[in-house]
Amino acid sequence: MDSERETRVPKHRRAGTAWRILRGVLMAGIAAVVAVLVSGFLHGDPRITALFPGVSVPGSAQGGQKQTTPARAEDAPPPGLEEGDAPLGSPVAPETSNDSYKFLATNDDGSPVGYSPCRPLHYVVNNASAPAGSDALLETAIANVSAASGIQFVNDGTTDELPADRREPYQPAKYGDRWAPLLISWTTPEAAPALMDKVIGTGGSTMYSLNNGPKSYITGSLELDTPQVSGLLADPEGADYVLAVMQHELGHVMGLDHVDDPVQLMYPEIGAPDGLAAGDLTGLHLLASAPCRKDI
Ligand SMILES: [Zn+2]
Repeated sequence: MDSERETRVPKHRRAGTAWRILRGVLMAGIAAVVAVLVSGFLHGDPRITALFPGVSVPGSAQGGQKQTTPARAEDAPPPGLEEGDAPLGSPVAPETSNDSYKFLATNDDGSPVGYSPCRPLHYVVNNASAPAGSDALLETAIANVSAASGIQFVNDGTTDELPADRREPYQPAKYGDRWAPLLISWTTPEAAPALMDKVIGTGGSTMYSLNNGPKSYITGSLELDTPQVSGLLADPEGADYVLAVMQHELGHVMGLDHVDDPVQLMYPEIGAPDGLAAGDLTGLHLLASAPCRKDI
């Protein structure tokens, strides 16, 4: 349920300059050199977790008993918590539509799997080792992704939950009778092995479906490598790179996959921290059309 990115730290400033030049070259239609010269962050293959439990429908054995509320699945909170009748946000479509986006998962009808836009997405932060100044960057990253996707994020504060390879999406003892909030962890490769080597962040969500119905994300996790991010923040241009890392990983959490277009933030390598580009924004906007889910 995660994706990875790594960084060649010593190169990233020079790579940023090279990228600005290359972008001009790219606009001129000469793209062949890009793959060779752009360097910076690298991302591994994103992975998502799927959870497709069956659900017994109370009353169905009696035959024809009218169902007034959605059934509750095992190991799941009551369905439809905080779910409204319509999306909470109304994100504006990007000025320039661009087809350089990909979704991590789609339903049988081709619609992208995303979070319900009709309920808030709560998140908690394990900030025990958060680098100084990173709070504001995370807030900015979340605000940008929220504006593009229409998903309303709610900060539930800090947590002592540690990242796990397969995180339990329903933890009533810790978070109450609801889906566990999105967990954002400042951590290390020792505690989160997916951050090994030069991977600086990972992110993804848990996909959920009842009885082979449409899928939706219910919670997710995002891990940031404290030592590497601290190193980046020591560089005058580092904050922009860290913001790019956060937005890239949040893109995975929302449901975006990597693309081949080096202009997009969801490209597996980033040479300069220019933020969400037209393809990223188009993909996030399309995720805003995910249906309301009173059933989960
Ligand atoms: Zn990635």
